[in-house]
Amino acid sequence: MIGFAQQLGTDVAGKHYGQTVERIIIMPHDETHGMSTRSVHAGWEPDPATGAVKRPLVMANSYAVPSDGNYDETLYGYARDLNPNARWLEERLLALEGGEDCVVTASGVSAINGTFLALLSAGDHLICSDIAYISVRTMLLEHFPRRFGIQTTLLDTSDPEVVQAAIQPNTKLIHVETPGNPTTRISDIAAIAAIAHAHGALLSVDSTWSGLTTQSPLALGADLVEHSISKYINGHGDALGGAVFGKKSLLDVIRKFVVKDMGACISPFNAWQIMRGVATLPIRMERHNANAMQVAQFLETAPGVAWVRYPGLKSHPNHAVAAQQMQGFSGMLNFDLVDPRKRAAFVAQLKLFVHAVSLGHDESLIFVYNDYNGHEFFRVSIGIEDASDLIADITQALAHI
Ligand SMILES: *Cc1c(COP(=O)(O)O)cnc(C)c1O
Repeated sequence: MIGFAQQLGTDVAGKHYGQTVERIIIMPHDETHGMSTRSVHAGWEPDPATGAVKRPLVMANSYAVPSDGNYDETLYGYARDLNPNARWLEERLLALEGGEDCVVTASGVSAINGTFLALLSAGDHLICSDIAYISVRTMLLEHFPRRFGIQTTLLDTSDPEVVQAAIQPNTKLIHVETPGNPTTRISDIAAIAAIAHAHGALLSVDSTWSGLTTQSPLALGADLVEHSISKYINGHGDALGGAVFGKKSLLDVIRKFVVKDMGACISPFNAWQIMRGVATLPIRMERHNANAMQVAQFLETAPGVAWVRYPGLKSHPNHAVAAQQMQGFSGMLNFDLVDPRKRAAFVAQLKLFVHAVSLGHDESLIFVYNDYNGHEFFRVSIGIEDASDLIADITQALAHI
């Protein structure tokens, strides 16, 4: 949508000058601008008070309210409920992921577990991928059934028939993580959305590992999408946050429960920092996608490597579904050495890859994970370095062991 915005400024003496300019206002569901244009312009305008070309960081806890006490609850009042930096980030993310609204939260975990707690009650049943983020698993395996009376079934969501067979009369929500952490498992979003909706249940998708630009779960039928915006969306490994997208009627409930009543709000500084990261998300994801494909193809034939798992490779068990629902395969892959006893020695030889948890950073990261069934392997987050340097680093480390 093209609209008009007032561009106002203040000169150094505080005297206002006003100037009405035609600006492009990027709205959710904007189809006239590409992803890169939206990631730079959405949620942004020159600061009306100063003319600054970047959004200011607003650290205030509270906001002046009219003296008659009549103020609109949807406006800024107390920074936990809503703060300008959080809202500007929500507007930018909304223009990229779609949906009627977006809520940003303190972390990815608070976005996901908070969504469950906001929408489910004792007696409800939730189906979830058994390959899911560790804190989500813990919540669903321990806290929900034992303490809150919410029934949970964790299973292999890469097989829609397995999901279908687990539906119960009280199933309210199906949650899938695709690609799944840590094994890169892919679940068929459209097929599971059809199963959920035939039963009157909602489908929630943790799309963190897609980096947002490589898949559109809402367009495939999901009702809710969550991201850990600590990962690709921030992209630089220096701020935590989460986001939920979907229908406004659901998001209103989630915002009130998670942000206001539980207090899992994002700090204005983290929102400001992540907003800057989002501007380069599409160009970073192009590099993550391309680098990961090159490294995965190299690992397929590298001496000393037993196997590699990357959704972009034909050898990946869910490659067909990935190729259908993703545009690019993101930057996460798994592999293992022929001799797993040499994992520590291999990692010690790496000069560019950092031995650390987390993912979606600019630098490449490597860490040993397991599939929750005792099978260990390397989980690698391929960064935005030159692929040739990453391949050379792995080559020299393999040669040393
Ligand atoms: C990291 C991660 C989370 C948790 O996000 P935080 O921001 O660390 O709380 C959730 N889901 C997936 C798939 C993740 O990789």
